[in-house]
Amino acid sequence: MSTSTLQFDNRFLHDLPGDPVEGPALREVRGAAWSKVMPTPVAAPRLLAYSPELAERLGMGPDLLDSADFPRVFGGNALYAGMQPWAAAYGGHQFGHWAGQLGDGRAISLGELVTAQGERWELQLKGAGRTPYSRGADGRAVLRSSIREFLCSEAMHHLGVPTTRALSLVGTGDAVVRDMFYDGHPRAEPGAVVCRVAPSFLRFGSFELPASRGDIELLRQLADACIARDFPELDGAGASRYTRWFGLICERTAIMVAHWMRVGFVHGVMNTDNMSVLGLTIDYGPYGWVEDYDPDWTPNTTDAQGRRYRFGTQPQVAYWNLTRLAQALAPLFEDAAPLHEGLAAFQATYARCERADTAAKFGLLACTDDDLVLMADWRQLLQDGQMDMTLAFRALSALDLDMPSVVVLEAAFYSPEHRDAVLPAVQDWLQRYAARARADGQDPTTRRAGMDRANPIYVLRNWLAQEAIERAEQGDLEGVHTLQQVLRDPYTEQPGREHLAARRPDWARDKAGCSMLSCSS
Ligand code: AMP
Ligand code: MG
Repeated sequence: MSTSTLQFDNRFLHDLPGDPVEGPALREVRGAAWSKVMPTPVAAPRLLAYSPELAERLGMGPDLLDSADFPRVFGGNALYAGMQPWAAAYGGHQFGHWAGQLGDGRAISLGELVTAQGERWELQLKGAGRTPYSRGADGRAVLRSSIREFLCSEAMHHLGVPTTRALSLVGTGDAVVRDMFYDGHPRAEPGAVVCRVAPSFLRFGSFELPASRGDIELLRQLADACIARDFPELDGAGASRYTRWFGLICERTAIMVAHWMRVGFVHGVMNTDNMSVLGLTIDYGPYGWVEDYDPDWTPNTTDAQGRRYRFGTQPQVAYWNLTRLAQALAPLFEDAAPLHEGLAAFQATYARCERADTAAKFGLLACTDDDLVLMADWRQLLQDGQMDMTLAFRALSALDLDMPSVVVLEAAFYSPEHRDAVLPAVQDWLQRYAARARADGQDPTTRRAGMDRANPIYVLRNWLAQEAIERAEQGDLEGVHTLQQVLRDPYTEQPGREHLAARRPDWARDKAGCSMLSCSS
C-alpha cells in the first residue's frame, strides 16, 4: 500500500452484495454485483500520458503525479491506501442477441474516490489482467487501443459530449499477442493500461444480468444503489422513484446520442453492456469519426456484414437498447406504463436535441419544421457529394449570406467528380440556406460565433489517431501529446495545426486502423 491524501469510500462494495470467492478464477457469479480481484502486476509500468485537468479535478497534485508510485498504481502494480479492487458482474445483448454473463473481463476498479468538493469518481484500470469474467481471454489491452481510448474520451469531453474520462495511459513493458483481423496472423504488440474515470460504470447489462436469472432482489438492490449514488436528486421511494429514474436514463441516453450525431462519432459496438445508465459514452473500442459523409458507415469490421452499428442508425439502436433495459427493469414496476413513458421521453428528448442542434449548427435562433428539411437535404448533399462532415459544417459559418458561394466548401470535397456532380444542387441549397439565415436576422458576428461553438474543427480523425499510434509504437509519444493538446480546444482555430483539421489523405482510405477496426483490442 502506498500512501496518498486521496479519500476512497468504495460505496459500490458496501451497498451491494459481493462474490464470496476472491481472485481471477473463471466462474459464473450469481447473487453478487462484484468480485474481489487484484490487478496483475506488469513488467515495467511507465507513464506515457495523463490528463492534467482531470488529475486536478480529482485532487491529484504535482507531488502525486510526479511520484514513482503513480505509474505503479495506475499500471496495476501497487495500490494507494483505501483502494479495494473489484471487477463488476454484468451481462448484455451483443449484436442483438442475449449473451449471458459478461462482466469486467479486463477492467478492474480500484476504488471510489471522494474529492474535497464532494464529487464521487470511480477509478478503473482497463487492461489490468484476468478477472472471473475474462472468459478465456488475457485481460490485457494493447497500446493502440489504449491510446485510442485515452485520446477519444478526453476529446469527447472537450467537445461537450457526455463521456467517461481518462486519467492516465501507462505502458506496461509487457507484450500482448493479438490477431488484429482474426485472420490467423497474430503478432506481439506493446501492452498498456488506461485508468478511466466516471461517477459510475453501471451499464444496461448490469441490470439485465440479474433480471435474466430472475434475481429480483439483486435487481432491486442495484437499482436502489444506483439511484442513491448516481441520481441523488431523485427523492421519495417506491415505484414513482423508479419511474423518474428510468425516464432520466432515457433522456440522458437521447442527449448522448444526439451529441454523437452532431459531431460525427460512431461508437461501433452499441451492445447493451456498452451502454452506461448515466448516459455517458463508454467503452471506446472500434469507434470512428465520419469523414466523407455516409450514414451507412461503420468503422467496426466485426460488424461489416450486418452494419448494425452504423452511424445513421445510432438513435434507433439506442432506443432498442433502452427497450432491453425496460424489459429487465419491468419486475420493479406494477405495470408497463411508466416504462413506455420513459421510452417516449427518449423520442421526445431526441427530437428536441435534433432541433436544438440543427439551429445551433446552422446558426439560427430557432429550428422550424422547414429547417429540419433543410438539414435533411444538406446531409443528402454531403453524402452525394462525398463531403467531409466536419469541414463542410464548419465552412457554413464562413458563408457570405449576401453572395453565397460554393467556394467555402472547396476543402470539404474528396473528389472533383463528386464535387462536379452535386455542384448545381449545392449552389441551390446554399441560396436557400442563406435566405433562411438572412431572414433570421442575427448579427453576423454573433451568428458565426454560435455556429463555431456547435461545429468543431478538430475531431479525432481515425488516421490521425493511427499516425500517433504508429509513432508511439516506435517509442515517440509526441503525436499523442500533440493530439491531446489540440483536442482540448476543438472549436477554436489553432494556428500551425491546419494539418490536424484536414481531409483524410488518400493513403488512409482503406488502411487498417484508419477505416477498419476490429474488436480485437
Ligand atoms: P467489449 O466488446 O470490449 O465491450 O467486450 C465485451 C466483453 O468481453 C466484456 O465482458 C469484456 O470485459 C470482455 N473482454 C474483451 N476483451 C477482453 C480481454 N482481452 N480479456 C478479457 N476480457 C475481455
Ligand atoms: Mg464492453
